[in-house]
Amino acid sequence: MAQSPLPAPLRASLDELLRTNALAIQRSRAHTHALLPPDTRDWNVDLEATQFTASFGEHIRVTSPAQLVATWSGGDGSWLWGDHNPSVAKVGSAGLFGKLELSDPLRELRAIRTFALDEPSAASLATLCALRAGYIGAWPAPKGTAFAFLALQPTVSVGSAGTTMWCTMCGKSQREVKALISGPGVNVCAACVELVTDIAGKGPPPSDAPDAEYMDPCLFCGEHRKRVFGPFGAMCFACANACQGTMASQRG
Ligand SMILES: [Zn+2]
Ligand SMILES: [Zn+2]
Repeated sequence: MAQSPLPAPLRASLDELLRTNALAIQRSRAHTHALLPPDTRDWNVDLEATQFTASFGEHIRVTSPAQLVATWSGGDGSWLWGDHNPSVAKVGSAGLFGKLELSDPLRELRAIRTFALDEPSAASLATLCALRAGYIGAWPAPKGTAFAFLALQPTVSVGSAGTTMWCTMCGKSQREVKALISGPGVNVCAACVELVTDIAGKGPPPSDAPDAEYMDPCLFCGEHRKRVFGPFGAMCFACANACQGTMASQRG
């Protein structure tokens, strides 16, 4: 059965909310996907225990508290809030929705149990809810043609070496790279900074290079300047140069 779309005024205020938070949402998704790419296979979630785990190779292990923000079904494009999902224990969403600040239009949206929503808006709305409840983002756990958007606050351990951060551009852990510079909700490693400054040093890219407004901005400054796109996000020449300066002064 097809879901009803949102009433037009509510849909317009949702679009406005997502637009005004676009950079925070983009940073969160880049940072989450750099750690847990959408094709991650070796993962498990137990919503009754509110626990998520994933492993990469033999030595990288991700553990996180997990809360179900919502499920989104590709069949009819329907969004269903996690705490209205009859097949999920209440505890699997209670922590998140207990902490979620509700101002309009979120309050109005929360009053509607399920509604039709396009996939990009669903991913952005889930991310925004996770961020507002204090998680790093919402990971789209695949379930057939559907996604379960899981709010996560991951801890990453590498072997027995304890916990670590990771690069938002390439996904490598702090222990696999020379240095990691922290930005606003994102990090970048020395190798990624070098890659961007190398490209910058070879002169500006041709005029048809992807610096258009419709492409994602630099994750660090949020500007649509000349930038290099990594697998998970972009970094502009100016931010790469600034990071290189920071790394040089740390070494010095
Ligand atoms: Zn990197
Ligand atoms: Zn920048």
